[in-house]
Amino acid sequence: MTDSSNSKVGFISLGCPKALVDSERILTQLKMDGYDVVPTYEDADVVVVNTCGFIDSAKQESLDAIGEAIKENGKVIVTGCMGKDEELIRETHPEVLAVSGAAQYEQVVGQVHEWAPKPVAVEHNPFIDLVPDTGVKLTPRHYAYLKISEGCNHRCTFCIIPSLRGDLVSRPVGDVLDEAQRLADAGTRELLVVSQDTSAYGVDVKYRTGFWQGRPVKTKMLDLCEALGELDVWVRLHYVYPYPHVDNVIPLMAEGKILPYLDIPFQHASPKVLKAMKRPAAAENTLNRIKKWREICPELTIRSTFIVGFPGETEEDFQMLLDWLEEAQIDRAGCFKYSAVDGATANELADPVPEEVKEERLARFMEVQQRISAERLKLKIGTWQPVIIDEVVEEGAVGRTMHDAPEVDGQIFIDDATHLSPGDQVLVEVIDADEYDLWGRLLDAEEIMAE
Ligand code: SF4
Repeated sequence: MTDSSNSKVGFISLGCPKALVDSERILTQLKMDGYDVVPTYEDADVVVVNTCGFIDSAKQESLDAIGEAIKENGKVIVTGCMGKDEELIRETHPEVLAVSGAAQYEQVVGQVHEWAPKPVAVEHNPFIDLVPDTGVKLTPRHYAYLKISEGCNHRCTFCIIPSLRGDLVSRPVGDVLDEAQRLADAGTRELLVVSQDTSAYGVDVKYRTGFWQGRPVKTKMLDLCEALGELDVWVRLHYVYPYPHVDNVIPLMAEGKILPYLDIPFQHASPKVLKAMKRPAAAENTLNRIKKWREICPELTIRSTFIVGFPGETEEDFQMLLDWLEEAQIDRAGCFKYSAVDGATANELADPVPEEVKEERLARFMEVQQRISAERLKLKIGTWQPVIIDEVVEEGAVGRTMHDAPEVDGQIFIDDATHLSPGDQVLVEVIDADEYDLWGRLLDAEEIMAE
């Protein structure tokens, strides 16, 4: 319910899951300050656009969104990754009221206060406030992104995130765990741990010991995972690099404490290309590492992303990537053609790969990846899988197994299961599979008892 006397804010959130978490934070603070968040331009006193500035097409999308908000409303505040490009924003849209950068929550909230009067201040009171303790979530209620740090200490040559977001700053482990606990208590069934480099959590504070529920916990990926594993929710790790210490979390996966899932953006397999990219852990023998992980936890699913056509990538380098892919049996992979990003040092590298060669390599990569994915999914036919339901449509329920992250991986379709609701967790027998998705049937009570 909105109070007509309160100031009203419109909000547009663009970009990656990390930007979504930023949007949630800003919205939470605005709600706590008494603002109403409205879904239309005409009802808003001011519109906030949280932008993405990662690649040129994302920048254009952000500029277009700002333009639309100016046309429809007129009072627009810009925040997010593109804040670094303030000059470009102001050149394109001189009417913009204020600009701030990624994760500058206080600044953007202050700017909203300036342009739309702050309602009479009230202390947050869980009994009268419309804002739950858990904050305002833009993801469905049953899953949530848990951001554990800001920034990044690496300097990959194709990436400008460190210049946009700065060096790694880990959130205090007690704060992260408190947030996770509040989310779990409020009904979140799945936590997606995100950061630029989850495996580097705590490096900046020398793995300082923090406190959670009165007991010491180190600011370290393993200790964080152990504590999250006590919350009785699915815990999924994103943006991990294959450092030796990642070996330590695999037993937690084998024991069912956290999901047997690792999202590792390998980006390439040729040592020469990885070196030119300045990728973290580029020197590690990743094939051996993956093999060892799968011995400890055979259920492990590995998702990754790759770049083809990086400057200097030869046919030999690319073939090495395809061979590596076959051998590593990566379950889920996204692939992108390299494209220059304004301000990235890779732009100065010699030997750019012609566009048609990039296209051709992308197609060959996807062909191999699709086959691997299809073969690996076929092995699941006949198995029973715990599934979380994301949505219910006319024909049945759509969910995900433990091996699939929301929005980026595959789904499982369960015909006729319209009595289910989003967030339900059920046991499903896999009855069919294609390259990316599964089909299943609900197990009846007797079958579950037999299990
Ligand atoms: S690890 Fe590399 S690609 Fe990822 S944010 Fe850091 S610099 Fe960018």
